[in-house]
Amino acid sequence: MHKKGLKDVDVKQKRVLVRVDFNVPLSPDGDILDDFRIKAEIPTINYLRENNAKVILMSHLGRPKGKAVKKLRMDSVAKELSKLLGIPVKKLDDCIGEEVEKAIANADYGDVILLENLRFHRGETENDNEFAKKLSSLADIYVNDAFAAAHRVAASNIGVTAFLPSVAGFLMEKEIIVLSKLLSAPEHPFVGILGGAKVSDKIDVINNLMNTVDEFLIGGGMSFTFLRANGYDIGYSLCEENAISTARQILENAKKKGVKITLPADVLSAPEVKENAPARIVDIEEIPNDGIGVDIGPKTAKIFKKKIQDAKTIVWNGPLGVFEFEAFAKGTYEIARLLGTLKNKTIVAGGGETAATLRKFGVDKQITHVSTGGGAFLKFLEGHSLPAIEAIEDKD
Ligand code: AMP
Repeated sequence: MHKKGLKDVDVKQKRVLVRVDFNVPLSPDGDILDDFRIKAEIPTINYLRENNAKVILMSHLGRPKGKAVKKLRMDSVAKELSKLLGIPVKKLDDCIGEEVEKAIANADYGDVILLENLRFHRGETENDNEFAKKLSSLADIYVNDAFAAAHRVAASNIGVTAFLPSVAGFLMEKEIIVLSKLLSAPEHPFVGILGGAKVSDKIDVINNLMNTVDEFLIGGGMSFTFLRANGYDIGYSLCEENAISTARQILENAKKKGVKITLPADVLSAPEVKENAPARIVDIEEIPNDGIGVDIGPKTAKIFKKKIQDAKTIVWNGPLGVFEFEAFAKGTYEIARLLGTLKNKTIVAGGGETAATLRKFGVDKQITHVSTGGGAFLKFLEGHSLPAIEAIEDKD
């Protein structure tokens, strides 16, 4: 990696300000529903503690729009982090100011401090220089480990880099290395599994990945726009009318480049998207006029699985059906379960729904890398350089 990492700086007896992404889903009562992003920070935090640094963590949570919102305080995150680390984490009530400075001065080396939600200050999302300066005055070194926020410009991931030596944390490093390899030097055959609701969200990803993948397996809602572009009647299945011509173009480009695009051969069709709707498997030519394709069918699952088994590199984004309903989750589940059993392959998954799916089915640990990024993951695969990664210092 051409960016400086944690091991390129001496953190001993230093105050280290770490931008993490603890923007976790919360229940209406403020309980953490998924601690995946918190767990992902443990290696960086432990390394800093073992090397006798004062660890000062900062993150945003939700969208408080520049003012303090009780529900979006970082207290439940601090509690969860304390549990995971097995030490008390000192949660502060602001992220800048005198009280914060005092608390940091009084902390011991090896302690972990969590600042209050950055977005309680408007300066965060506005990348305000004064706010960035105040944040950076708290530390000697800045570590960016918030890959999931790296596509956004903020004071805590861009502004601060003007004032402090800036390096990548272990999570950021891993994300950059794994995702860069997909774009520059993947082992072939390389298969991209794409699902989810909309083609329009994934056009740039498809166009960029087309330079490295050998084949796309497309399922989920987005497959129906492609099927329409190929002339099929798709009943009431999700279709983006204004993306049909783009889908057609993608199919043509793929043909020219020798990239295969495999679409569903059969689907589970239901009269409505409802758990107990009377769904049935139909071939793609036979979707009823009033039917909605809610999952890939067994023929498609078999075809996809064979191609996945034959691949050396696999990247996955987007569920292959309306997986929120148990009855329509079979296709997504089968692919997830297969990925969990494969050996000697590079398997990378990303996007909020996809990562959640892998965890739900308990196979996230078995695959090479589950990205913490949603938007950042897609932007990276589109081939864009992410502003917060750019802002980290280059290696000498
Ligand atoms: P995305 O955020 O684009 O990855 O889309 C995820 C959403 O796509 C999930 O909420 C799924 O319910 C939805 N989805 C997947 N397959 C279908 C489908 N066949 N019809 C409608 N929505 C779908």
